[in-house]
Amino acid sequence: MARVAYDDVSKRFPTQDRPAVDRLTLDVANGEFLVLLGPSGCGKTTALRMLAGLEYPDSGDILIDGRSVVRLEPKDRDVALVFQSYALYPHMSVRDNIQYPLRVRKLTAAERLTKVDRVADLLGIRQLLPRRPAQLSGGEQQRVALARAIVREPRVFLMDEPLSNLDAKLRTHTRTELKALQKQLGVTTIFVTHDQAEAMTMGDRIAVLDAGKLQQLGTPDNVYQRPANLFVAPFIGSPPMNIVDASRDGEALVLTGGWRVEAPRGIAGSDGIKVGLRPEAIDLERAPASGAQPAEVLVSEPLGSEVIVNVMLGDVLLKVRTGPDVRPDPGTPVFLRARPDGVRVFDASSGAALN
Ligand code: ADP
Ligand code: MG
Repeated sequence: MARVAYDDVSKRFPTQDRPAVDRLTLDVANGEFLVLLGPSGCGKTTALRMLAGLEYPDSGDILIDGRSVVRLEPKDRDVALVFQSYALYPHMSVRDNIQYPLRVRKLTAAERLTKVDRVADLLGIRQLLPRRPAQLSGGEQQRVALARAIVREPRVFLMDEPLSNLDAKLRTHTRTELKALQKQLGVTTIFVTHDQAEAMTMGDRIAVLDAGKLQQLGTPDNVYQRPANLFVAPFIGSPPMNIVDASRDGEALVLTGGWRVEAPRGIAGSDGIKVGLRPEAIDLERAPASGAQPAEVLVSEPLGSEVIVNVMLGDVLLKVRTGPDVRPDPGTPVFLRARPDGVRVFDASSGAALN
């Protein structure tokens, strides 16, 4: 078990005009499951590879348990990396694949046997041990890659989109298992993904990256409820947060289409603001009521347990989450109310959250 810290770490590849990782400062607690989340190309893999010792930072420091590791060889860092491509040795049996790191460390055959059997039981793959990787499904190969990382008993697990090659159903199943397994093993884990749902369900905390820069670090609830800026707000959550231009008029915020909502306390500035409303922060009523904003239904999307009602507010499309039995037809007039605690306000030019 170990603490990990990135201290003002930057890395720019020679062919790039901006850094792949830009002044990253991040602490990962002992035993924590930290998710690095961001769109493709935002620097997630580069950040992981620097910790693994496969890339060298231009500046800043990377520490494990308070000691700098940037000058250590990858093999001396005691971290295990699991990739999206499982990188199994095709000519070796599953057992040999898993015990490979133990052979490198010169453990005896008896020690290897015990350790491999134990980890195979943990992952439910004992029956696969005699097979070759080509005789396994994608999900099974993914488990073998995981077993090979676990058997090393590293201080830190690094996982780079390890579930991306699995089909949707297996991916959800595996993410539940992996989260439970990480808690059971208690090994500090940094897990990279571009999938916000994966990040929300798995992470103790989420670090959101964009263009090499850390945008926000917080618990899933924290980044969902209080996104730090206009990058994080629509990136997390499905459907995403509605973002609407607004201006201030006394105690009210006036949104596109003339919708007046009460301004949260302590918001400075009068114009150049945007309001964010989660689909569940909007209540939809069927009859006119004082203070409720008239709008028109574009289309309802039933999802079984809930319905996403798409509503036109002037020329702006809003997504509203309702119960399964509310599914108004296109063209139906509806009346909107914003839940006061669900009104997020952002500075339009800097993008920073104001509440
Ligand atoms: P992510 O994993 O978030 O998709 P990466 O860390 O792989 O992002 O890449 C970040 C940026 O660095 C991208 O613009 C990518 O093209 C660039 N990059 C990554 N590796 C190299 C490399 N070896 N040489 C040049 N550019 C690279
Ligand atoms: Mg990557």
